[in-house]
Amino acid sequence: MATDAGELTTTAVRARGLTRGFDGHAVLDDVDLDIAPGEFVVLLGRSGSGKSTLLRALAELDDGVDGSGDLWVPDSRAVIFQDSRLLPWARALDNVVIGLDPGPASLERGRTALSEVELGGRERAWPNELSGGEAQRVALARALVREPALLLADEPFGALDALTRIRMHVLLRELYDRHRPAVLLVTHDVDEAVALADRVLVLEAGRVVTDRRIDVDRPRDDRDPDVLAHRD
Ligand code: ADP
Ligand code: MG
Repeated sequence: MATDAGELTTTAVRARGLTRGFDGHAVLDDVDLDIAPGEFVVLLGRSGSGKSTLLRALAELDDGVDGSGDLWVPDSRAVIFQDSRLLPWARALDNVVIGLDPGPASLERGRTALSEVELGGRERAWPNELSGGEAQRVALARALVREPALLLADEPFGALDALTRIRMHVLLRELYDRHRPAVLLVTHDVDEAVALADRVLVLEAGRVVTDRRIDVDRPRDDRDPDVLAHRD
């Protein structure tokens, strides 16, 4: 596959023939994937289908894992996991600005990010004083304050109750509309996929078996029969 610099600037993710395996067993099997800048993609699949393995590959967090293929991802990436992974010894605002240049400008950006996730009043809260949903909102602020070209999220709302999850869907779509990163969000929840995505990929046994655009203006149960068929 020929590439040149011009092409790379119009692509947020490009993977060709991506293969990953454990103990001689292929978990990702020859995956090709393109994500355009600013595209919101949900990767849907059953437990064990290889979603996290693919996300970790795109995050380049899989050093030492057997694999092959070609991968281009932007340097400016942010990753969110199911658990917020906040530093317990740092207050909410310090968790958001961690790793940024120290100084008032970064603190101001962090404050803005916290207010964008509706936690403007919780800058000085310790992680153990936050609910699960609040902690994930801090993790979202920590990701977005970096203005990543690519946001990777592995079942970010999987540990939250149903009502909090729906609230997070609305918030995430608002933040996405404001910041427009390319997004790859992993879930096993078909309803979450059709609620969030402009495009849904379905992974089965390490292969992308479905790749569909979703029309978010259609009624939810009428969005895409191919994707909805994956409901359990
Ligand atoms: P998903 O996120 O879709 O649930 P994973 O990507 O976590 O799936 O895992 C896919 C398969 O790869 C599973 O069979 C899992 O047991 C295996 N696997 C994942 N990570 C490892 C690892 N570090 N060592 C051995 N096997 C692994
Ligand atoms: Mg997983």
